Amino acid sequence: MADQLLIGLDFGGMSIKGGAVSASDGKILARGLRPFAPDVAAAEIFTRAAELVLELESAAGGSAERIGVGCAGLFDRPTGTVLASANMPNLVGESLSKGVGEGLGGREVLVENDANVAAFGEQWLGAGLAEDSMALLTLGTGVGGGIVLGNELFVGPGGNAGEIGHTVIFPKPSGSYYDGPYHEELACPCGSYGCLERLVSASAAKRRARTAGLNDDLPVLAQAAREADGPERRLMHEIGRDLGSGLSTLVTLFDISFFVIGGGFGAALDVLRPGAEELLEEQRYGTGASRIVPATLGSDAGWIGAARLSLRTD
Ligand SMILES: [Zn+2]
Repeated sequence: MADQLLIGLDFGGMSIKGGAVSASDGKILARGLRPFAPDVAAAEIFTRAAELVLELESAAGGSAERIGVGCAGLFDRPTGTVLASANMPNLVGESLSKGVGEGLGGREVLVENDANVAAFGEQWLGAGLAEDSMALLTLGTGVGGGIVLGNELFVGPGGNAGEIGHTVIFPKPSGSYYDGPYHEELACPCGSYGCLERLVSASAAKRRARTAGLNDDLPVLAQAAREADGPERRLMHEIGRDLGSGLSTLVTLFDISFFVIGGGFGAALDVLRPGAEELLEEQRYGTGASRIVPATLGSDAGWIGAARLSLRTD
């Protein structure tokens, strides 16, 4: 029997990335990209997605039984309908399963959150390939997260688990018990307060640098932290400790001890890690030491994890 061909697509705000990979050995057989304007209609996005799948199949010399799709947002699981998506508003209310499948002769299309598929990709062929269980955190404009337990993507009964960026690590002042100040900048667009992403995302790090009177160019900030034991290193240590707070929650809840950090600000992991490890050590609750490593698949992680979805049997 011929090796099974897997195809994954990753829907971003301005393009669809995709690729073909062989199921047996994870060999990447083809990659492709379809850019589009931000205001393009959903029907046009679906047409381009189907074209990309056919192009990938032609390049890889085979055809995929099912297609996996990763996309930012919340979904209705049974229908693959986008319920909310900040960076792809034209897809809200549309069924990705139906839209992409129609251009491909009605083939089955599996849809998953973009951060979840990135975690699934990193665990299969990237930084987590030697681990059965891990969590991925992407430090970008926000903080995306995905959890893999025992080689399976953990999405929870409603499909929306893994939102590590919105775990609260800095509680909202409640008056009688905790009478701290209300920090406007910690109010999160998700409706909560003190979410991890309000403290450790790239945007949060820039804001924290400005508040500390430092250069808010993150690569410059990280380089200064590497070179001297000054205010930049202290800030990175503080942000690292906050990152450690988020990871500590995962250690306690899931006994995960392997963390992969991606996203643009993930490039500063070497200067964030000491603070994160320090906090994890302080809050260890009978668990082993944690390891925190950089993501290795870059922007391929999403489509690779989406391709892997089509191997799922549930
Ligand atoms: Zn939030």
